[in-house]
Amino acid sequence: MTFEVPDLPYDYSALEPYIDEETMRIHHDKHHAAYVNMLNGALEAAGIEGKTVKELITDLDSVPEAQRGAVRNHGGGHFNHSLFWEVMGPVNGEMSSELNAALLDAFGSLDDFKAKFQTAAMTRFGSGWAWLCSVNGKLEICSTANQDNPIMGSEYGGCGKTPILGIDVWEHAYYLNYQNLRADYVTAFFNVVNWAEVSKRYSETL
Ligand code: MN
Repeated sequence: MTFEVPDLPYDYSALEPYIDEETMRIHHDKHHAAYVNMLNGALEAAGIEGKTVKELITDLDSVPEAQRGAVRNHGGGHFNHSLFWEVMGPVNGEMSSELNAALLDAFGSLDDFKAKFQTAAMTRFGSGWAWLCSVNGKLEICSTANQDNPIMGSEYGGCGKTPILGIDVWEHAYYLNYQNLRADYVTAFFNVVNWAEVSKRYSETL
C-alpha cells in the first residue's frame, strides 16, 4: 500500500482572495505530491508497509536509520499537509462550545489566541509550522521546524501533543501572493479556518 495525495475538499480557488488558486495548485499538486512520492520511495527502500503515516512519524525509531530522515521529512510533510487542507475551507464553519470554552480558558479571548498563534507563526525562523495543540483538552500553541509535527517524539522536534490546527509558514505556502509578507498571510489565514473541522479534531482529544 502506497500513500496518495488526498483530494482537496474544496476547489483550488475556494480560499480566494486569502489564498490564491495558483498557490493552492502548486502547493497541493506539486509540493504535497513530492512529499508523498519521496515517502513512498523511502518506505519501499526500507521494506516497510501496512503502517499509517501517523504510526510512522510517531515511531521513527522503528524506521531503519538509512531512511529515518526521509520518513521524518516526507512522512511529516504528508501528515502536515493532509491536516492543513482539512482545517481550511471557504466558510469558517461553526466552533463547538467545548472548543470555544477551551480557547477562552487557555488564552482569555479569541483575539488573544489569534495574537499568540500569529506570534508563533511569525517567530518560526525559516520553514516550519505553527500549531494549536490539545493535551487532554487543554490547549497550547507551539511551532515546529521543517516538516516536523508536535506528535513526533522530542528527539525529532515534537512534543507529544496533538495538533488540531496548523498553519504552513514555508514560503511556498504564501510567496506568490504575499511575497515576503508572512504577517499578512498569517492574518488572512483566520478567514479560511474551518472551525467545525478544528472542533471535531478537538473533541477527539477529550
Ligand atoms: Mn507546504
